[in-house]
Amino acid sequence: MRLLILGGTTEASALARHLAGRQDFAPILSMAGRTKNPIAPPIPYRIGGFGGVEGLKRYLAENRIDLVVDATHPFAEQMSANAVQACGETGIPLAVLTRPAWRPGPGDNWHFVPSMDAAARALGPAKRRVFLTVGGLQLAAFAAAPQHHYLVRTIETPEAIASLPDHRLILARGPFALEDEVALMRDARIEVLVTKNSGGSATEAKLEAARTLGIGVILVERPAVADVPAFEDVEALIGWIEDHRPSP
Ligand code: NAP
Repeated sequence: MRLLILGGTTEASALARHLAGRQDFAPILSMAGRTKNPIAPPIPYRIGGFGGVEGLKRYLAENRIDLVVDATHPFAEQMSANAVQACGETGIPLAVLTRPAWRPGPGDNWHFVPSMDAAARALGPAKRRVFLTVGGLQLAAFAAAPQHHYLVRTIETPEAIASLPDHRLILARGPFALEDEVALMRDARIEVLVTKNSGGSATEAKLEAARTLGIGVILVERPAVADVPAFEDVEALIGWIEDHRPSP
C-alpha cells in the first residue's frame, strides 16, 4: 500500500517509526523543508512543496499513492487545505493524525486569542517581559508591539527576528524538561508566555512552568479543521488505513 505521510511533526515521525520495516506498506514521508537539518526518518522521504493543489494531485498520480495521512502541525493550515482539496478531487482517502489541544487546569491563567495579531495586542500597552514560543514564521506580528522585551525560542534563527527591537534569541529543539523551563522563565524574569495551542507533550512543560511560577499565558487558538477522519493514536489510524486497503 502506497502511503503518503504529510509530516514535519512528532506524530508523523512516530507513524514513520511504526511503519518502518513493514512489508505491506510503502510509505513516503513528506516534509516542507523549513528546518535545514531535519532528523532523517527511518522510511523513504521527500523534501519541499508540491506546488499547490495541482502539484499535489500530480504527485499523487505519478507516485500511484493509495492513501494520504495528513500528520502536519495543527497550524499548517495551507498544507492541510491542499490535501483536502487534492484528495477530494482525486478520490484518494485522506485521514488526519493529530494531537489533542492543550486545556487549562486548576491554577492556570490562560487567555485564548484567535490570531497572532490578537496575541500581540493582548500583551497591552505597558512594557512586559514576554516568553515568545510561536515558531519563527509568525514573529513579525509582534513588531506591532515593539515596547516589550521578548525572549524568543525557535529551532533556527527566524528572518523576522530583527523586527523585534528588544529581544533575546534562544535556539533549541524540544522536548524540554520542566525544571529547565522553570529556571529559564524565572531567570529571565518572564511575566507572560505566548504560545500557539499546538498540543503534544514535547513542548508542554512551558505551560506547567508558567503555572508553577504563577505566570499568565496567551494561547493562539487552532485554525478550524476540515471534516476528515481524525486520529490521535497511531494504532487507531492503522486500523482505519487497513479498512481502506485497495483490493488486489
Ligand atoms: P503551511 O503554511 O500549511 O504550508 C505552506 C506550504 O508549504 C504548503 O502549501 C506546501 O507547499 C508546503 N508544505 C507544508 N507542509 C508540507 C509537507 N509536509 N510536505 C511538503 N510540502 C509542505 O505549513 P507551515 O505552517 O509553513 O508548516 C510547514 C511545515 O512545518 C509542515 O510540514 C508542518 O507540519 C511543520 N510545522 C509547522 C508548525 C506551525 O506552527 N505551522 C510547527 C511545527 C512544524 P506547496 O503548496 O508548494 O505544496
